[in-house]
Amino acid sequence: MSYRLSTRSRARLQGVHPALVAVVEAAILITPVDFMVTEGLRSPARQAALVRAGASRTLNSRHLTGHAVDVAALVEGRVRWDWPLYGRIAEAFRAAAAARGTPIVWGGDWPTLRDGPHFELDRKAFA
Ligand SMILES: [Zn+2]
Repeated sequence: MSYRLSTRSRARLQGVHPALVAVVEAAILITPVDFMVTEGLRSPARQAALVRAGASRTLNSRHLTGHAVDVAALVEGRVRWDWPLYGRIAEAFRAAAAARGTPIVWGGDWPTLRDGPHFELDRKAFA
């Protein structure tokens, strides 16, 4: 079966770069693990609050420009943070991005402070 984005997830894609929205919309159709979009475009004030809280390390986040989204895995409609679920979602994102020729970066591939829920457009292609 294939999943679909909820109304709330779609609302959270407002202001996100169309190339990344297209990847999210394609990924939901092929992912073996359902997901919701938890955050897309972020205000500077919210970014500063996240840094203060220790949830983010940078004031130069890709979320500020609409080049990043965060997702949460859903199992039977409930959010799960189990790491393996995010690898499976990332595979769907990778396939969806490759099919569109849209280079993306998964936060789960970062060498330090891996960020499994985070996907962004590659800075090399999308400044
Ligand atoms: Zn993020």
